[in-house]
Amino acid sequence: MPKTALIRQKKKIALIAHDNKKLDMLEWAKYNIETLRQHELYATGTTGRILKRELGLDIEIFESGPLGGDQQIGARIADGEIDFLIFFWDPLAPLPHDPDVKALLRIAVVWNIPIACNRASADFLISSSLMCQDYHRRLPDYESYRQRLN
Ligand code: PGA
Repeated sequence: MPKTALIRQKKKIALIAHDNKKLDMLEWAKYNIETLRQHELYATGTTGRILKRELGLDIEIFESGPLGGDQQIGARIADGEIDFLIFFWDPLAPLPHDPDVKALLRIAVVWNIPIACNRASADFLISSSLMCQDYHRRLPDYESYRQRLN
């Protein structure tokens, strides 16, 4: 039997937007506010404070991205405590924490959680019928990798 992990109907959604994408995130979150309110929300520092101030969303806020927020979210994905990622990263600006961005995207793929990196993808994800039901995400078999001795 393949291993799975449960993404509950009430999902644990992380929201992150780079500076040039914060307006996009705000507009997107405003449009989808009723859906977002049905889930547990997490965000990096500045993104979270903007969404809280502008939309009154209840969000657990981590450090700002460049100060470790992306890594905090990545750690929670690895721990199974965040299971959904909306990450509007900026493809046109080099950033001091580019390695963290890559690491976060990588760990999201490792654990097979849904990720949207632009508004169109986020629109498709949030309008999926899977948003309002439990979902068993397949986990790759990492056991043999864990057991290796070299
Ligand atoms: P911020 O971090 O929400 O604190 O701006 C986002 C990021 O740059 O990763």
